Amino acid sequence: MILQNWWFTTLLGIKEPIRSPLKSHIKTDVLIIGAGAAGLAAALRLVGSGKKVILLDRNICGGSSTGKSAGFLTPDSELELSQLLRKYGHDGAKDLWNVATTGVETMVSNIRKYKIECDLQPQDCLFVGIGPGGWQDVQEEVEARKKIGYSSTTYTEQEVPSVLGSKAYSGAIRYTGTFGVNPLLYAQGIKQVLLDKGVEIFESSEVISFDDHTAYTHLGSVTADQIIFCIDKPRPEITKYYEEVYHAQTFLSISEPLGDKEIADLFPQGPLQCWDSTLTYTYFRLTGTRQLLVGGGDLLTTYAKNDTTTPRVIEHVINNLKKKIPAVRDLRFIQYWQGRIDMTRDLVPTVIRDPVRPWIHFVLGCVGLPWATFCGDFAARNVLDDKELDNEKYYQYFSPDRKFLVPLWLEQILGKRLVFTVNNAWAKYRQKDV
Ligand SMILES: Cc1cc2nc3c(=O)[nH]c(=O)nc-3n(C[C@H](O)[C@H](O)[C@H](O)COP(=O)(O)OP(=O)(O)OC[C@H]3O[C@@H](n4cnc5c(N)ncnc54)[C@H](O)[C@@H]3O)c2cc1C
Repeated sequence: MILQNWWFTTLLGIKEPIRSPLKSHIKTDVLIIGAGAAGLAAALRLVGSGKKVILLDRNICGGSSTGKSAGFLTPDSELELSQLLRKYGHDGAKDLWNVATTGVETMVSNIRKYKIECDLQPQDCLFVGIGPGGWQDVQEEVEARKKIGYSSTTYTEQEVPSVLGSKAYSGAIRYTGTFGVNPLLYAQGIKQVLLDKGVEIFESSEVISFDDHTAYTHLGSVTADQIIFCIDKPRPEITKYYEEVYHAQTFLSISEPLGDKEIADLFPQGPLQCWDSTLTYTYFRLTGTRQLLVGGGDLLTTYAKNDTTTPRVIEHVINNLKKKIPAVRDLRFIQYWQGRIDMTRDLVPTVIRDPVRPWIHFVLGCVGLPWATFCGDFAARNVLDDKELDNEKYYQYFSPDRKFLVPLWLEQILGKRLVFTVNNAWAKYRQKDV
């Protein structure tokens, strides 16, 4: 098994994988920094608005979290619906679930509208419980969906094998409207759409400093009327909001293609995208190329400061999955990779229109492609002064001044990792804001 992102491997066949770096000093109406799901959504919203748009990325479009992700397009993120319900109450949970659902719909409609070839797979999702605690998690999710008015199907321990070839799970909940995608081909597909619509894109162009209206890269600069930062791993020289963000690490691996019998044994009623109820959960889905994508992690490395490149963690995840699902016991995995997902202390994105310099917008700590898509689009709609937006509501949910258990100043004493671990656990399992 080699250390290489499978999605990067799939890029090898496309026409134009890289744009040249910025080498001049230019002016524009709107500058977007960061071309992950958020920055791409922001740029797409602005095309056709009459504004000149420039998009910069230090890597390639989608080259960070977006293009490393497993490509599950589901409203679920690190916060399940039942957890949103506890934290925000009925209306808040509904608002935030709608954020993520809108993100899914936006991405899927982009793929269909622009005919982006990125292995879009309509796949219901299946959240599977492990042990009695897992069955309780499944039931809480079922209850939350009922309370908010969303449908779902429940499977008891005895019924799970009818949809997933395993007797190891204590129950499951399934719902629809979810998809799998090759996220790097998606990002590169949107890049092509943007280029066709006149957006100037510079890759390998890291913004290393920033001064009011001007962002400087190693070889050039852009001066803009409005600037949207959709960056990951923000640094103090770029923004004071860098403290709002830390990261969680997760690992992925992809198998050789499965045969017909293996697929039928694994998913008797057709492919599903699955994740389980453990804390550092295991997740898996089948790609359009019939390969099994498996992800997961462990407690030791989730909050590690730097990248962990050993195959040990994902091998452990795969071996555990093989014990649970006989159909994949003999499957060989060929590539693995990891990524650190930016997140805030309560796992909800932070979106800011700078109060002192209102021409600067930040989209930070989006956990999940749909959340990033919604938030990038939201920031761009603010650039356009879109009056139909319920700004007050969303800026409140995404405010850096919302309630957190442990304040940022304690980072000096406790360290960032501990502050984020405690806050994340609090947001997930205890926090009540209403
Ligand atoms: C291994 C893994 C699996 C995941 N699986 C899923 C999944 O299945 N489903 C899901 O919904 N989410 C998943 N996620 C999470 C998801 O990938 C992220 O939440 C999402 O991609 C965030 O998008 P973004 O645009 O906010 O950030 P990013 O994709 O990180 O984009 C930020 C961009 O900013 C650029 N940048 C940063 N600093 C600078 C700078 N100074 N100058 C210029 N450019 C800069 C970066 O190069 C990057 O391209 C996964 C993440 C990982 C790592």
